[in-house]
Amino acid sequence: MSKKKNGRITIAPDLCTGCLRCALACSFFTSPEKTFNLSNSRITVLPGYDLRQFEIAFKDACDQCGICVQYCEFGALNRKKNTDKIIEEKHETGVADE
Ligand code: SF4
Ligand code: SF4
Repeated sequence: MSKKKNGRITIAPDLCTGCLRCALACSFFTSPEKTFNLSNSRITVLPGYDLRQFEIAFKDACDQCGICVQYCEFGALNRKKNTDKIIEEKHETGVADE
């Protein structure tokens, strides 16, 4: 697995509790089976080398849809604010989002 750059999503590992809600939500909403299965998740949350902080990474298959952000209750995942604005502006001008 490569550590994909986080594109539209910012990561704050110091706020991550390791709850895995993000990964479970990703596995459910992005798989055709609609099941909770961490092996299908496109985000990984693993203990860091010193076990005091989690390491969050996106797999190559991640399309930066942002669903995982909605399910993180601890502020460890966030959408970039300026990206939201750009997306809104695209809609206003009729330019299709990517
Ligand atoms: S942005 Fe979407 S595809 Fe990527 S890890 Fe989050 S929920 Fe999964
Ligand atoms: S990023 Fe958020 S939802 Fe995912 S494990 Fe960390 S605290 Fe939980």
